[in-house]
Amino acid sequence: MLPPLVEDNPKYLVELEHVDKHFGNLHVLKDINLRVKKGEVLVIVGPSGSGKSTMCRTINRLETIDSGVIRIDGQTLPQEGKELAQLRAEVGMVFQSFNLFANKTILDNVTLAPIKVRGMDKTQAEREAMDLLSRVGVASQASKMPSQLSGGQQQRVAIARALAMHPKVMLFDEPTSALDPEMVNEVLDVMVELAREGMTMLCVTHEMGFARKAADRIVFMADGQILEQDTPEGFFEHPKTERAQDFLSKIL
Ligand code: ADP
Ligand code: MG
Repeated sequence: MLPPLVEDNPKYLVELEHVDKHFGNLHVLKDINLRVKKGEVLVIVGPSGSGKSTMCRTINRLETIDSGVIRIDGQTLPQEGKELAQLRAEVGMVFQSFNLFANKTILDNVTLAPIKVRGMDKTQAEREAMDLLSRVGVASQASKMPSQLSGGQQQRVAIARALAMHPKVMLFDEPTSALDPEMVNEVLDVMVELAREGMTMLCVTHEMGFARKAADRIVFMADGQILEQDTPEGFFEHPKTERAQDFLSKIL
């Protein structure tokens, strides 16, 4: 019999293998191994200072690594150059602070990168941007400036702006932590919807309701290490390590 033409290996969109990183003497990522399948939603939790943000930032090379390998859709992330810019464009990122361009309209915020980086035609970019803005519920704000929007609206624009690049994976680093409480859900709802549509997502968040609803897997980090990976049920009901038990007792 002939071997199959297509291997039925699960396809990993993000892979970290033996990733180490220091900030000076601080060993901030210790032998991180993580594989994220296409369509998977990971929620990354852990105490403050455990390296969650740093790990996310290495995935689009906002931070370099000391050793190990990071692959996006099978391609090794290089240290620099044109290839890096291309791979970076595959990874959308949404931060705690909304980081919109303050002197550009909402529409321009969303179309800027597709036009500049993807070389997209302006009319096409604007059509897609309006679609995305209506998906996140802020189409009526398109001609306004960021400062005229609420925090929740700005964060939804930030999500639309990341999606406009057609990323293969979306990283969220505490996207609701800076929001007034009444605006948290409008942002989480957009993320839940995105997860349902099959987007591959890595989300650092303390929103455990979201984690239970949307996560396929919870990754628990402490002291620069991944200590546990489990389903939401498994992690919340039966945390294995003392660190995770301690963490959960403080937040639940
Ligand atoms: P988390 O997101 O889990 O709170 P971080 O990844 O932000 O953790 O930080 C992990 C550790 O690395 C912390 O001790 C933090 O102070 C330190 N750190 C983060 N960024 C830098 C930096 N640019 N320079 C030096 N230390 C840093
Ligand atoms: Mg952080």
